[in-house]
Amino acid sequence: MTRTEVEEKITSYWKKNNIFERSVEERPRDKEYVFYDGPPFATGLPHHGHILSLVSKDLFPRYYTMKGYRVDRRWGWDCHGLPIENIVEKSLNINEKKQIEEMGVDKFNKAAKSKVLSFVDEWKKTVDRIGKWIEFDDSYKTMDQTYMESIWYIFKTIYDKGYIYEGKKVLMYCPRCETPLANAEIQMDNSYKDVSEKTATVGFKIRGSEDEYLLAWTTTPWTLIGNVAIAVNPKLDYVKVDVFGKKFVVAKDLVDKIFKDYKLIEEMKGKEIVGVEYVPLYEMDTKGKKGFYVIDGGNEVTSEDGTGLVHMAIYGEFDYAQIRKHDLPIIQHIGKDGKLIEGPKEWIGKWFKDIDGDVLEDLYNRGILIEAKECTHSYPFCYRCETPLIYNAVDSWFVDIQKIKTKLKEKAKDIKWHPKDVETRFNYIIDTAPDWSISRNRFWATAIPVWKCSCGEMKIIGSIKELQENATTKVDDKIDLHKDVVDKVHLKCKCGKKMERIPEVLDCWFESGSMPYASKHYPFENEEWLKKHFPADFISEYIAQVRAWFYYMHVIGVLLLGKSPFVHSVVSGNILAKDGSKMSKSKNNYTDPNKLIDEFGADAFRFYLMSTPVMRAQDINFLDDSVKEINRKVLMILENVKRFYELFGTKNIELENDSSKNILDKWIISKTHKLIKNSTENLDDYNTVKVCSDVLEFVDLLSTWYVRRSRDRFKSTNKKEKKEAIETLAFALDKLSKVLAPITPFISEEIYQSLKGTNFAKKNSVHLEEWPRFDKKKIDDSLEEEMVTVREIVSKGLDERIQVKIPVKQPLAKITITANKEIRDELKEPIMDELNIKKVELKKGSELSVKLDIKMTPELEQEGAAREIMRKVNDMRKKAKLTIQDRIEIFIQTDSELISNSVKKFKEEIMKSVQADSITEKANNGNELIIKEQKVKIEIKKK
Ligand SMILES: [Zn+2]
Ligand SMILES: [Zn+2]
Repeated sequence: MTRTEVEEKITSYWKKNNIFERSVEERPRDKEYVFYDGPPFATGLPHHGHILSLVSKDLFPRYYTMKGYRVDRRWGWDCHGLPIENIVEKSLNINEKKQIEEMGVDKFNKAAKSKVLSFVDEWKKTVDRIGKWIEFDDSYKTMDQTYMESIWYIFKTIYDKGYIYEGKKVLMYCPRCETPLANAEIQMDNSYKDVSEKTATVGFKIRGSEDEYLLAWTTTPWTLIGNVAIAVNPKLDYVKVDVFGKKFVVAKDLVDKIFKDYKLIEEMKGKEIVGVEYVPLYEMDTKGKKGFYVIDGGNEVTSEDGTGLVHMAIYGEFDYAQIRKHDLPIIQHIGKDGKLIEGPKEWIGKWFKDIDGDVLEDLYNRGILIEAKECTHSYPFCYRCETPLIYNAVDSWFVDIQKIKTKLKEKAKDIKWHPKDVETRFNYIIDTAPDWSISRNRFWATAIPVWKCSCGEMKIIGSIKELQENATTKVDDKIDLHKDVVDKVHLKCKCGKKMERIPEVLDCWFESGSMPYASKHYPFENEEWLKKHFPADFISEYIAQVRAWFYYMHVIGVLLLGKSPFVHSVVSGNILAKDGSKMSKSKNNYTDPNKLIDEFGADAFRFYLMSTPVMRAQDINFLDDSVKEINRKVLMILENVKRFYELFGTKNIELENDSSKNILDKWIISKTHKLIKNSTENLDDYNTVKVCSDVLEFVDLLSTWYVRRSRDRFKSTNKKEKKEAIETLAFALDKLSKVLAPITPFISEEIYQSLKGTNFAKKNSVHLEEWPRFDKKKIDDSLEEEMVTVREIVSKGLDERIQVKIPVKQPLAKITITANKEIRDELKEPIMDELNIKKVELKKGSELSVKLDIKMTPELEQEGAAREIMRKVNDMRKKAKLTIQDRIEIFIQTDSELISNSVKKFKEEIMKSVQADSITEKANNGNELIIKEQKVKIEIKKK
């Protein structure tokens, strides 16, 4: 069976026996581990990053379930916002927001609703395939009426507490989607790209002068049309220079960068130019306000680049603040749709970015474009439609972050970040956070529950009941709270007129940040429930969500209930393509994860992800070969060990526990207890990387040392010896299956099921088991250390055999070991056996070294020959496809005295090792072989 077949069989076993449901229900209600699953968008197929988060969010709930906690898990879907709106726009061939209004918001929202869950089936498949356990079908959706009603409640509550306000601010704005975007949204998806653009150094003619100019610089020539002032730093040094008859004012530090040839006329401080008036570049309507003069811009104006004189238009945060401060004209020459609405007639209606060239050409023709230089800088783009964003002064609703900042910082101390250093990042994000713009001028999201009247009255609605009580018409209980529906509802105003809802909808981060409450329709339902399920013990997401979901969850939690809504937060990194670039469908630089999972197993995929530093918030380059390697190093090896156990293991037997006195057994028992101890500590610390590396080491030792070295005991006719080996292996496998259960749930189930019939695997599934306990007394550190030395000695001995060219099958008389520690006598046996040596001599020394005695005696040579015969005969058995039960007769013919003596002397041993009943020194047929440079004919016959 392939891994896929095995894993699918296990999945259906779990389903048939309701193992997931039972694993939750069999745990007490009064001992819960609370987990919030952040809702993903169902608008695309699950990719590597999603799968990482599925696994991480599966592992810890499984672990805590095994530790005896009840861990309810319920899936959710993020349904609203720009991502889905853009998909709908594409499918309806919509290029402009206007078109949506023309076709009708109801139609648009209906289309969005029909598309939003289009990938649910694919997600379900991936969730099942990767072995993630969650209540999937009973998922919550942010577009549910209950969810949206809770959002209204939360909005109103925060507003009533005084933390939501309406205001005009300069925000990043997408002129195609016609909505402001939050800083975090843009930062999160790294929507900055390096672009090469023409910058302009422009002369503004000083009013009343002959030929004197203020020199200003901009990276966005289209904003020059809306210029209203020039800012200088009053403390900075400026100069007036003569360049071929024209005079320019510029910062002293920058003049040499701008002009090669100039004559210095005078030096001055910035404050001396404040107030100087200039001729506007374009005639604009200032609505009676005074503009076009030099203002004091303070220390933020520097002489680092440009000219030291800053052109001011409304399209910048600093600019807008200065415009407000100095009461300058407000000129927004670009419309909401990104097109020019004011300025030179011939350009009206042009897209803002397309005006750059026109402006440059125009200024050049007028002789005031001093320089236009190509410049590469980082520029933000809309993360959904890829339109270049602009800073735009827009009316918006805000959460007053500044007012709550101290408390946000204070409450952030309760969060335990994994890895710990994310804390610094989170604090920085809070420190530098602007007020949160929560309104979107869009369609498909929870409508903001604010109604206004022309008389100035405003009303915030916090529930459907409240809406019904205030509406001018009857409102149905089942009313949809989307824009297209609630816009039609009017409220009675005390002035007698009708109130209308404001057009905006909510930022979808406000919705996903409200998930702990809204998913449970709090406080309309589940008020008691929330008391016991807040804050969550655990949440997990990737690093970009620190400033998004984690941050917004924190803000709303602190505003609503005065607490951060989560305690332990596991932060993962980004998964990049093999070459370190972003995984991209168009670049075709990664393998479909489903393909890898099918080929190497979900367990291998899970284990690989959990073992890499991506689980410690670091970026990794995803290596397909590593999944393959995990398949080989963990899954295939464990399957072999399991098969080995099944071959020799005893069914229907009461096995004693970890009580064997055999040294190898004692050692693997110690190792097993230590594995449990370390895994417990590391999982308690949410460190999967360490757990995985311990498991890797353990699996290797179990297979290549313990099982291999115990083979003879398993086959032994000595009942006690055999029983000890079997029960020790069963013990190790049982514990290992439990340690592996949260990480690789499939192979762990396979191993567990193979122990059925013993007193180890009494439950239906390993996932109904308790997390294993360790016994400190069974951990023998000195034995473990000695075994490390033994393995080192063996490896050095094998190296030396290669050097002296004597193969292991040839016995040698003695090994002399110099070691810095004692090795107990019992451990000399594995050394002798592994190296095929008769005697171990131990000497004290500071450094570990070995010396082989390579002197050959006839006796050693005979023994070597006997070993070779055994090996050849076993090869022949294999070729003849004989099974372990088949007995044989051996016929050997040789002229060699060495071989003949060897057969005589080691007859019994040869027969035992190859399951033969007789050896006859005469062969009629058979293979001509060379053993010890002697000709031998060997024939075997099945009895
Ligand atoms: Zn956009
Ligand atoms: Zn009114």
